[in-house]
Amino acid sequence: MKVADIKVYILKSALPQPFAFSQEWVTQRSSTIVEIVTDEGLSGWGEALSAGLQQPEISAATIEKVLKPLVLGKDPLHTEVIWDEMYHHTKDYGRKGAVIGAISAIDIALWDLKGKILKQPICNLLGGVFRKKVQAYATGFFRTQGQGEKKRLAEEASNHAANGFELMKVKLGFGIQDDIEVMNEIRQAVGDKVELMIDVNHAYSVSEAIKLGRALENFNLRWFEEPVIPEDIKGYQMVKNRIDVPIAGGEAEFTAFGFRDLLESRAVDFAQPDICIAGGFTACKQIAAIAAVHGIQVNPHVWGTAIGQNASLHFLTSIPLANRSLFAQEPIFEYDTSSHPFRTDLAKNPIEHENGWVTVPEGDGLGLEINRDFLNENSVIYR
Ligand code: MG
Repeated sequence: MKVADIKVYILKSALPQPFAFSQEWVTQRSSTIVEIVTDEGLSGWGEALSAGLQQPEISAATIEKVLKPLVLGKDPLHTEVIWDEMYHHTKDYGRKGAVIGAISAIDIALWDLKGKILKQPICNLLGGVFRKKVQAYATGFFRTQGQGEKKRLAEEASNHAANGFELMKVKLGFGIQDDIEVMNEIRQAVGDKVELMIDVNHAYSVSEAIKLGRALENFNLRWFEEPVIPEDIKGYQMVKNRIDVPIAGGEAEFTAFGFRDLLESRAVDFAQPDICIAGGFTACKQIAAIAAVHGIQVNPHVWGTAIGQNASLHFLTSIPLANRSLFAQEPIFEYDTSSHPFRTDLAKNPIEHENGWVTVPEGDGLGLEINRDFLNENSVIYR
């Protein structure tokens, strides 16, 4: 079997209500979707993440102009070989960011095809499932005004709790005092049963991150995500060494090469590659191996469409515990609760949580049935 065609779809949707994370106002959700078609008519699907406000055309151009000519005619089962060629061919201008996002999309689509050809779900091809059900955490708590929204955010927390979520990640980074007030209000609203995490999206300096972490030490947070800029591994270490809160990071890191530095330096307690931008299944398996030998748990970042969600869940379930014990903490699934039509409508069978838990998809490959009518109506083909 050979790759006969590759189609790149651009999806963009303006948000009815713009929202902010610590860095910017988000006004649209977008994604780069790739369909790889074989000479026998099978289709595999992949996604390149539009991180932050990244425009989807960057990854789309990389796929269409650079990767497509490399992959056409190849055997879709040769995922490792194709990944290696894509990475080294783009190395002088790639290595991180949107180019690796483009490689991720192709890799995920090839793994989807591999599953369909071998009639197996991807998680089986990765070595099997460590967990069939995964506890989900609610990601949300974006701002609609900026500061001074503790009441509304506490209400949001109560809604997540009413929907069955026992784990939630709160977006902070809006000023330390505002952050602390928000956390106090949320804790009051949901009580001690809910386990909280915080994410400042690298808003703070080392000293500010330490100040916030210390102020929240009695919250028993599972993790403090992206406390400082991703380039500053020493800064991560300083924060980690000076607060009694586990540190998470990695959504802005890429491939085994990038994660090697983060993991070897033990800058994080949780490594968070996003499969749609860190290099797809091929790279994420390597990242998980490096993390495991350093005793660091991988807990993927998820912010994509239905394709990204399914891919993440297959990967997540194949990740071993870095520190195994009878009552060890299992990795958890990031469940984006913000507005994103491509998460809910792109597939006929999107992942939905049940009382705060998600089940690993069955079915060959990603186990996803793309809604082609929705895709055709809401995308343009990039050429
Ligand atoms: Mg994050």
